[in-house]
Amino acid sequence: MRENVREANVVLAKCRKSHRTYGIRIERRTDNVWYCTWAFPITETGASNEGYGSTMISGRVDTDPEYPGCPYCGGRGWVSCGNCGKLTCWDNGESYFTCTWCGSSGEVTTAETFDLQGGGY
Ligand SMILES: [Zn+2]
Ligand SMILES: [Zn+2]
Repeated sequence: MRENVREANVVLAKCRKSHRTYGIRIERRTDNVWYCTWAFPITETGASNEGYGSTMISGRVDTDPEYPGCPYCGGRGWVSCGNCGKLTCWDNGESYFTCTWCGSSGEVTTAETFDLQGGGY
């Protein structure tokens, strides 16, 4: 048996509208399935002080029904940039996005698994 302790991490994302940074708390519930449970505003300085953004998370990422969305614009989801791998907030139904971190843009493709940079929690 594996231990039942829930593992949680925080990954960083940027709002596509306000260009501000926020943290997404994600929690591992079953093997390799992570759920986004919370999002909160944070500064990049604060995030690096907390050590967020330093651990890689691999697996499937899903959104908990309670997940509040982007704290700045309310976007329910996020996309992982194919160029820099970082997260930008996104709302269902939009088929095109511009990465707030590196400026590259493209079609939104939905992936089942992600490699995210998180931080020990
Ligand atoms: Zn946003
Ligand atoms: Zn990017």
